[in-house]
Amino acid sequence: MYQKGARLFGLPKSPEAYELRDFLTRSGFPFEWVELKTDNDARRLAGVTGLDDPRLPVCLLERGSVLFRPTIRDLAAALDWFRGPKHEQYDLAIYGAGPAGLSAAVYGASEGLRTVVIERFAVGGQAGSTNRIENYLGFPDGISGWELASRARQQAQRLGAEIIVTAEGVGGEIRDGWTVSRLTDGQEITARATICATGVEYARLGLLDEEKYLGRGLFYGAGASEAKHCKGHVFIVGGGNSAGQAALNFSRFADKVTMLVRGDSLKDTLSSYLAERIEASSKIEILTKSTLTGLHGRESLESVSYRDNSRGDEREAPTNSAFICIGGVPRTDWAKPGTLLTDSAGYILTGDDLIGESLSPLYWSPWSRNPIKMEASMPGLFAAGDVRHNTVKRCATAAGDGAAAVSMVHQFLALKKRE
Ligand SMILES: Cc1cc2nc3c(=O)[nH]c(=O)nc-3n(C[C@H](O)[C@H](O)[C@H](O)COP(=O)(O)OP(=O)(O)OC[C@H]3O[C@@H](n4cnc5c(N)ncnc54)[C@H](O)[C@@H]3O)c2cc1C
Repeated sequence: MYQKGARLFGLPKSPEAYELRDFLTRSGFPFEWVELKTDNDARRLAGVTGLDDPRLPVCLLERGSVLFRPTIRDLAAALDWFRGPKHEQYDLAIYGAGPAGLSAAVYGASEGLRTVVIERFAVGGQAGSTNRIENYLGFPDGISGWELASRARQQAQRLGAEIIVTAEGVGGEIRDGWTVSRLTDGQEITARATICATGVEYARLGLLDEEKYLGRGLFYGAGASEAKHCKGHVFIVGGGNSAGQAALNFSRFADKVTMLVRGDSLKDTLSSYLAERIEASSKIEILTKSTLTGLHGRESLESVSYRDNSRGDEREAPTNSAFICIGGVPRTDWAKPGTLLTDSAGYILTGDDLIGESLSPLYWSPWSRNPIKMEASMPGLFAAGDVRHNTVKRCATAAGDGAAAVSMVHQFLALKKRE
């Protein structure tokens, strides 16, 4: 039996093992990652027949249970983290446990609303994927994303919010004046009001064979769980703050970090404190006006090609690790087309942004009002954080948006009472 947290055994370039590592890291759960290199190790340590055993990766939990090739949901269930909703009805249901959703949960629960948060992966959202947030108020030395998330989760739970992880909202409607959302497993969550805080998803590069290398050397995001395993030459694609933080983090472990930046200079896209540290690092190379153009390797990533757009020449460099931090696209694919109005990029329109838009009479005919601030095109459905049209994409603004959305929920509930 393993005494502390979990031990995870798997192959070095296994996407399944990466997903489990990412989930455990973001959840702040202690674990040891053991890379299996020989059949003998696989038999001796993981209890499987060899390196080609399809039951890998194997997760050994301190309680003694052994999970063969678990999904995230299997792992969450084994850790007793997955529980269904406790109540049939809530005052407030929140989708997404990033900074916006967690902040809404803290304010909702502390202000007396029976609150549930549904999170498709682990708490923390994008913030949970970074090893250091330096500009969040109150943390002069910075704080890791998962620590911030874990503190917020504890705070929300202490105040009475219920948090359900590895459950995903996939659609919603209004039924008898309640917002009713459907989860992947068919369960429904009924609430007086709902906040959508589903954030953004990493944008893809659109390169040939991108899927093939995903988790096998190619990763989206800042790779907080991976940094200490990447020793050689690491490529980071992107020139924003998340790419900058990733470059600094990887430079602590890797021999060399190359940043491929589309623009002319880092200073246009990066906070100055990060730009200065990156420029001062002898391990970080910045290639501006450069784009990643190809991924190569038999089973996993072995090299990348990139183009210098000012000279037009293309190069290839050996690497086992490329991290893509090129921003994101809003997660609103779950909204039934037509029910939820978004801007052309898919961000949710709310409040005054909806003036002049045609609101569905199906939802709005009982109401003789326009959507209130932060309310989307369905009455009682609010949006907060990165997923909302025209918001500043930062932790503090997302947290502020979550808090503000709760005050709009109170306004909505008061209107409803008077109905
Ligand atoms: C690597 C990186 C570093 C960053 N560093 C900084 C920084 O230093 N300072 C700063 O201010 N900002 C930083 N940011 C930006 C900041 O993290 C985001 O602006 C912030 O996390 C947005 O919060 P959010 O709650 O709106 O959305 P997100 O953080 O995107 O959270 C959304 C959550 O919703 C969940 N979700 C999505 N769809 C569903 C669904 N259908 N059902 C249930 N759950 C769902 C997702 O899994 C996710 O957990 C960084 C971002 C990244 C990627």
